[in-house]
Amino acid sequence: MRTRPSYRDISLYSPPVVPCRVDLSDNTNLFGVPPAAERALREAAPSLVTRYPISYAPDLKQALSRYTGFEPSWLTTGCGSDDLIDCALRAFLEPGERIAVPDPSFSMMSYFARVNGLQFSPVPLRPDWDIDVEAMLATGARLLYVCSPNNPTSTVASRAALERLVDSAPGVVLLDEAYTEFSQGSNVDLVRSRPNVLVTRTLSKAFGLAGMRVGYAIGRPELVAEVEKARGPYKHNGIAERMAIAALTEDLPWVKAHVEEVRVLRRRLVEALEAMGLKPLPTEANFVFVPFPGAIQVAARMRDRDVNIRAFQGLTGVGEALRIGCGPWPLMEAALNALREAWR
Ligand code: PMP
Repeated sequence: MRTRPSYRDISLYSPPVVPCRVDLSDNTNLFGVPPAAERALREAAPSLVTRYPISYAPDLKQALSRYTGFEPSWLTTGCGSDDLIDCALRAFLEPGERIAVPDPSFSMMSYFARVNGLQFSPVPLRPDWDIDVEAMLATGARLLYVCSPNNPTSTVASRAALERLVDSAPGVVLLDEAYTEFSQGSNVDLVRSRPNVLVTRTLSKAFGLAGMRVGYAIGRPELVAEVEKARGPYKHNGIAERMAIAALTEDLPWVKAHVEEVRVLRRRLVEALEAMGLKPLPTEANFVFVPFPGAIQVAARMRDRDVNIRAFQGLTGVGEALRIGCGPWPLMEAALNALREAWR
């Protein structure tokens, strides 16, 4: 059977599934479902199942508009921000064009580049973990991606570097703010002051709705309209939409309280790791990143103790590292105990 030739060498991107009692591997919200969203799930009308959702999710855009302060025409939504990143790459680049991505950063970017037929330029982060603006521009890429706070390093791009990048970019800068709620501040205002910024965000992290697959993007209406062409009318299902709307309107105190709690928890986790002699990076996300040689083996031994955390090897400028998601303290304690035993 004839299929797309350039896909033949692409392997499926399939994150490992490791069933463990304590799972801190995917940076999701470990405090349960926000209450209004849960109510929306229980009360979902049958018509949400039997009928198509309204195309381009106008009700969800209204709720997002109230939450973000951007007009609905500046917003688009998708099946997680994954989906919007993929749509944006298709909307802004022709196959064969180039995308530049800091390294290390969100691991799915190289995959999205490949399935969209793009050239991919990883650009090492600077030793201070900031983006290397000149090196990114020197790739000649038409689209520049920046993730801040960055997954997996948990660090942020400096405002000065971001502004220089945006002002000198030959095309769109895609700013991934999946973890923005946990940081000291968003850079979404760049969308208003510059014509070439698209910000992607998600309800998978601070809002606790990862399984519902709801993400959104913010940009000038001209940019958003192009992304919607790549998106098509129907994406997330009607129940996910109702849950997202409930969370965005009624669960904001719940979200805020847990974001605050994560800030405290991550500080405690960092201190405990430092007391062990490890050197976690400064974190502005809901996870802690700890580079050290032997991390892969330590993570494997932690899994034997029913604790799953994400381990990396061969990361540019880092080598091996652990990434530990922050959740209720008993989970952190379980992870720390397993880590201490695994490290011996
Ligand atoms: N961007 C970053 C940096 C992420 O870490 C993730 C989730 N791992 C995503 C985007 C995608 O999240 P979602 O598709 O659930 O919105």
